[in-house]
Amino acid sequence: MCFIMVGCKYIADIYPVQFVKTAHPLSVGLVIVGTAFFLSVEMFLIVPMIFDTGGVLYKLAWLVAIFIVYNLLGNMLACYRTDSSVASLPRDRQIPDPEEEHLWHHCDYCQMLVPPRSWHCRLCNCCILRRDHHCIFTATCIGHNNYSIFDDRNIVGLGNACTPVHS
Ligand SMILES: [Zn+2]
Ligand SMILES: [Zn+2]
Repeated sequence: MCFIMVGCKYIADIYPVQFVKTAHPLSVGLVIVGTAFFLSVEMFLIVPMIFDTGGVLYKLAWLVAIFIVYNLLGNMLACYRTDSSVASLPRDRQIPDPEEEHLWHHCDYCQMLVPPRSWHCRLCNCCILRRDHHCIFTATCIGHNNYSIFDDRNIVGLGNACTPVHS
């Protein structure tokens, strides 16, 4: 997997716009198809070998499986819809207080002062508050506002397979 990450980072650095247009739909599609595949294998092949298909435990397994898939996809969508960019701050908070101005830094890409621990993402083309990484599976940057949602997704689902792209 390492050479895939290095390759992704290399392409993302050189062709950020094309990378976003290609990698995001492919990655999201992969998660949806992969989830449907593993859910089908688990629930129609593996679980019937363990539990009687007419029994309570089989029905309980279905409930657990639906809960996990709902959380995985729901948190993915919530992650995508939650903006962590500097623009998500209220207008008056986008300008530093005079006594805090020395803590802010200038972003050469956005051409503006940005709060401490904000970093520019070339794929999102904006500065992200407390940026962690750009996640191609949620098609957005993981930062201050959506980090907890991203964490929830990792805990309940297949999100551990997520490949972050640092660029
Ligand atoms: Zn920036
Ligand atoms: Zn980003």
